[in-house]
Amino acid sequence: MNVNKNEVWTLAEVRNKDIHPVSRELLAWGRELADSMGAPLASVLIGCGISSKAEELFPYGADKVYVIDDPSLEYFLCDSQVNILEDLVNRFSPSILIASATTQGRTVMPMLSARISCGLTADCTELSIDPGSGKLIQTRPAIGGNVMADIKTRGRDPQMCTVRPKSKRPLCPDISRKGELINVSPSANLPASALTYLGFTPETSIGLPIQEAEIIISGGKGMKNSKNFAKLEELARLLGGTVGASRMAVDLGWAPYSAQVGLSGKSVTPRIYLAFGISGAVQHIAGMSGAETIIAVNHDPEAPIFRVADLSIQGDALEILDGLIDSLKKRQQ
Ligand SMILES: Cc1cc2nc3c(=O)[nH]c(=O)nc-3n(C[C@H](O)[C@H](O)[C@H](O)COP(=O)(O)OP(=O)(O)OC[C@H]3O[C@@H](n4cnc5c(N)ncnc54)[C@H](O)[C@@H]3O)c2cc1C
Repeated sequence: MNVNKNEVWTLAEVRNKDIHPVSRELLAWGRELADSMGAPLASVLIGCGISSKAEELFPYGADKVYVIDDPSLEYFLCDSQVNILEDLVNRFSPSILIASATTQGRTVMPMLSARISCGLTADCTELSIDPGSGKLIQTRPAIGGNVMADIKTRGRDPQMCTVRPKSKRPLCPDISRKGELINVSPSANLPASALTYLGFTPETSIGLPIQEAEIIISGGKGMKNSKNFAKLEELARLLGGTVGASRMAVDLGWAPYSAQVGLSGKSVTPRIYLAFGISGAVQHIAGMSGAETIIAVNHDPEAPIFRVADLSIQGDALEILDGLIDSLKKRQQ
């Protein structure tokens, strides 16, 4: 096995014994860094019965995949993953470790960083290599999204960060790309998990989770109340989309947190993003500006959302929503 201490690592994720799409997005982030460092890019794949899936990561940019495949890893238990990652970092000394800011990444990475005394920058929006020092520059919004801060990790490697899911598209797969598959057995003395897996209850919402949706119908405080907000669900059903929300709408209890788009919610990159009664605060824009087409409805001609919208509709959100629902229903009939 070829151990190179400058390796860039990404933490692949597994759901239901399949590689989760964020794993491919992470490789797009990692590939750029590895290329500018002249270093290999490796993915770490931890799970049960997943060895046969590891090769799927090569076409998306991985040079190597470290696979830890063990029956004890059937379910995601945070402390088990941290124990394994600590062991791997100590054995292989990667230079950079990138994870996705999913529930998994957001729980594993802080615990790992405390365990191995390495810095961690969460929710980066840009990553690059400083040509002078060769260090990782981790860029992320700070002070409520009003400034972009460049952060470098002090002290020992790995330099660790998380990036938002859907903040980069996976590379175009190159099926001729091959790589090195490394099956790693965890060190014998690793402690067993202190956690017990009880079960998994999927969230019941209309359509796909917002991060996977191609069409998102979002609402803000301009929707006035929860009854009006429910109309967004009707439109989502008619268009085959998913309902999103501003933080204000979530704080008012009109939508669950899982629907929140923005800096402290989720980043989304749908084909179409419809915003009803959302002002367009920087923290909201930070999560949806990557949408292909943004359609905004607001009665205030000065609403900041119009600055990023491809189609700006000045008018009453409720009237326009009702009109759209009616005409779509008629068309369906
Ligand atoms: C650290 C931090 C993190 C944050 N994270 C997020 C985040 O992740 N996501 C997020 O969304 N926000 C976030 N915020 C909050 C953000 O600053 C805004 O407060 C929030 O986005 C405003 O939500 P809104 O647009 O629904 O409400 P408002 O700003 O109150 O806007 C309501 C809009 O509706 C319009 N309107 C009213 N009535 C009608 C009508 N009848 N027809 C048409 N238009 C109408 C108004 O003109 C107005 O533009 C964060 C803030 C901080 C400080």
